[in-house]
Amino acid sequence: MIPGWFDGTHLLGTRCTSCQAVFFPPHHGFCRDPRCEGEELVEERLSRRGTVWSYTNACYPPPAPFVSAEPYVPVTLAAVELERERIVVLGQVKGLAVEDLRVGMELELTQGTLADGPSVWMWGPPR
Ligand SMILES: [Zn+2]
Repeated sequence: MIPGWFDGTHLLGTRCTSCQAVFFPPHHGFCRDPRCEGEELVEERLSRRGTVWSYTNACYPPPAPFVSAEPYVPVTLAAVELERERIVVLGQVKGLAVEDLRVGMELELTQGTLADGPSVWMWGPPR
């Protein structure tokens, strides 16, 4: 779990109460839209579904501090445009290989474990 970013079922973002813009990771203090004077951002649970905007696989281990499995198992990554908020969130893909993915297909938020133990959000097939 990543405190403040993911509660186990939903990604947590913030919404500007002036212009309704949504930010992920959650951002506090002032609105990042330069046209907006808003200073109140409220936490919001984001859509659990979205469509694939782009995807790839990582056939080589990422650099430290990322801890890879030994031996390294290639991972699939997807950038998913959230259903309601229309923002793109990157995540590891669980239960689908890179050959299974297509731009525009629907994925659903799920949870998975990284090689060094932390439980994080991942993208998986819709249930
Ligand atoms: Zn704003």
